[in-house]
Amino acid sequence: MKHSPANAIQDVHYTDAHGGINPAISDSSTYTFDKAQDMADTFAGEKLDAFLYSRHSSPSTNQLCEVLAAMENTEATQVFASGMGAITSVIMQLCKADDHIVSSRTIYGGTYAFMKNFLPGFQVNTSFVDITDLASVKAAIKPETKLLYCEALSNPLLEAADLKALKKLATAHDLTFVVDNTFTPLVITPTDDGADVVVYSLTKFINGSSDTVGGAVCGSLDFINSLKDVNDGAAMLLGQTLDSMRSASVLKNLRTLPIRMSKHSENALFLAEQFEKDGLKVVYPGLKSHRSNEIMTSQINPEFGYSGLLTVDFGSIANASLIMEKMQEKNIGSLAVSLGFYRTLFSASGSSTSSEMSPEEQSEMGLTEGLVRFSIGLDFDIKRTYQMMKSCIDEVLS
Ligand SMILES: *Cc1c(COP(=O)(O)O)cnc(C)c1O
Repeated sequence: MKHSPANAIQDVHYTDAHGGINPAISDSSTYTFDKAQDMADTFAGEKLDAFLYSRHSSPSTNQLCEVLAAMENTEATQVFASGMGAITSVIMQLCKADDHIVSSRTIYGGTYAFMKNFLPGFQVNTSFVDITDLASVKAAIKPETKLLYCEALSNPLLEAADLKALKKLATAHDLTFVVDNTFTPLVITPTDDGADVVVYSLTKFINGSSDTVGGAVCGSLDFINSLKDVNDGAAMLLGQTLDSMRSASVLKNLRTLPIRMSKHSENALFLAEQFEKDGLKVVYPGLKSHRSNEIMTSQINPEFGYSGLLTVDFGSIANASLIMEKMQEKNIGSLAVSLGFYRTLFSASGSSTSSEMSPEEQSEMGLTEGLVRFSIGLDFDIKRTYQMMKSCIDEVLS
């Protein structure tokens, strides 16, 4: 039977020692060993069933890891203090001096800045490509390329990567294929289509309450163990560990991810269809008019739709700003970056989450200054929300 990510989340349940229906939260940074030899064996990596120190793992981080691994259909997971902590650790683990990365150019601004500005200081260089143009992806691969990197659904242009085709290229050139699935948890299971490593910002849909930052890396047991290695693991040595308390709260929120993703997607599709009828320049991968609609449709788990992100180009930053301010005034949502909150969030990507890119780079990839990215909320009455949005938009544009 095909792997169901929602069933996988449901089927891993923890209780506490007293029959409590939630797991106990571990409140310790260090752990007692009965025998001195056990401690020595644990540090030598020969004994794997003991906790040594919470920067490595804790009972609470392990529970969140197990559920995320079940969801992504991977052998193991490690959780991090942020999405950037997860992404930078994966890259530092896989790439050493003189290695090379081929990455999509439409990626999260922080990831882009890390590859473009930070990694060259360690002699790791990146070629940024249009990930939807397979010929240019292939042409960018060099003998020293180690890693192929993309987002399953890109930020902020919402282009879908053809994961199966990219995996073929990665296999042919012996590259590790890393996919950031932050925009499409449950919607896409990247390992179904060949991703070797899946990275997440838990901050967004997965936690869903915009009250913490967190990240995760899902992959083979060997790779996750290499990240946690006390001698040369990036997770262990760079120290970007998620706290036990937060791991427990993220796990509780993860329980409702399936119903949240379905609702985010349903609401976003409704608004996208209305905006399209209104003649607005709306981009949503669930619309037939979207250039990645076919690929998206072939890759999604359909019960979760096309996710909750859409963009509308309001023509100028002046119009975009006015519309966003009006929508906030009317209490439709918040003028804020980030995504995956119960409430609609909107921001002008060019001057916020993608401001790491120069105006030239932005225009080359098709990011216009009037482009507003919406993370559509869980509004119960989305028809009312649409009417309210429409009146804000009409007031400014007419
Ligand atoms: C937010 C985000 C990140 C970074 O995650 P943090 O938790 O903010 O560190 C990485 N990738 C994508 C696609 C994101 O949206």
